[in-house]
Amino acid sequence: MICYTKGVTGPRHLVSIADLDAAEIVRILDHGDRYWSLADEPIKKLTSLRGRTVINLFFESSTRTRTSFELAAKRLSAEAINIAASSSSTTKGETLLDTGRNLLAMHPDVIVVRHSFGGAAAMLAEASRCAVVNAGDGQHEHPTQGLLDAATIRRHKGRVDGLEIAIVGDIQHSRVARSNILCLSKLGARVRLVAPWTLIPRGIELIGGELTRERVRVCTRLEDGLDGADVVMMLRVQHERFAGEAPRFPNTRELSRTFGLSERTLQYAKSDAIVMHPGPINRGVEVSPQVADGPRAVILQQVSWGVAIRMAILERAVLGGPSSAEQAA
Ligand code: ASP
Repeated sequence: MICYTKGVTGPRHLVSIADLDAAEIVRILDHGDRYWSLADEPIKKLTSLRGRTVINLFFESSTRTRTSFELAAKRLSAEAINIAASSSSTTKGETLLDTGRNLLAMHPDVIVVRHSFGGAAAMLAEASRCAVVNAGDGQHEHPTQGLLDAATIRRHKGRVDGLEIAIVGDIQHSRVARSNILCLSKLGARVRLVAPWTLIPRGIELIGGELTRERVRVCTRLEDGLDGADVVMMLRVQHERFAGEAPRFPNTRELSRTFGLSERTLQYAKSDAIVMHPGPINRGVEVSPQVADGPRAVILQQVSWGVAIRMAILERAVLGGPSSAEQAA
C-alpha cells in the first residue's frame, strides 16, 4: 500500500524535486504506474477527485504540460479551469500574488502554475492554503517533467539506479535539466551534462550538494558524454531565455553539428540506449528526424507518462496519496 508521509495535514505542494527524498519519488512513480494502463481502457475516468477544482494558471506557453494536467484532472473527475497569461489580469498590471490571492478566494483545491520567474511557484505556495504544483518556473525547475522522465526510464530500463544518463544541449537555461539532475541522482543514476562550456552553468554539479557532486559530471565533447550512456536526453536551445545575454555559441548550425544527435552520433551511446526529449523538438537541430522517429526514441511515451504522473501528483496534492479505492485495488 502506498502511503505518503509528508504534508499529511497541510497542502501537498510540489515546488521542487529538492523537496522530495528518494522514497517519496518512488512512491509517486509507483502511484503513476497505476494510471499508466488506464490510457488503454475504453473509459478513462475515475472518481477520486470528484467535486474538486484544479486551476491551471499558465503565464508561459505550453502544449504538453497544460493539456496533460487538464486531462489528468478530468480523468480523476475534477473540474479543470485553464487560465492563460494573455487572458489574465496580469496584462492589466496585477501581480502574480494578487492574481493568486483572487484565485484562492474561489477555493480551488490545486493551483498548477507555470511562470517565467524562477521562484514563482514557491512564492504562490507560501501564500496559499491550497496545494500548488509547479509546472515550470523560469530556469529553476520543472518537477513533474523530472518525475515523468524517471517513470519513462524506469519503464524502459526496469530501473534508474546505476544507469548512465546523458543530458545534452542547453543546460544553462533548462529547468528540465535541473529537475532531472536532482531526480535521477536521488534515484541512483549517474548524470553527464553534455554541452559547450557556455551552455553549462558554473557549479551545476553542486545543485544537490554532495549527492550531485558525486553523481554529476560535465562533458564538453558529445563523444565523451554519450560514451556508454544508457539514456540520451536531448534539450532544445531555449532562445526565449537569451534576452540581453551575449551570444553563447556562434550559430545554431554549428551547435547542431557538434552536439546534435543523429544516427551517426547515437552510436557513441550503448546499442540499447533510449532517446528522450521533453519537447518541443526542433527537428534537424538538436535531434535528427531519423532519430526522433526511430526505434530508440521514447519521446511520445514520455508524453503518455505525463498524464499518468500528473494524475498521481494531483491525487497526492488533494488526498495526500492514492485514493482509498486505488489503495484497495
Ligand atoms: N517543455 C519544456 C519546458 O517547459 C522544455 C522546453 O520548453 O524546451 O521547460
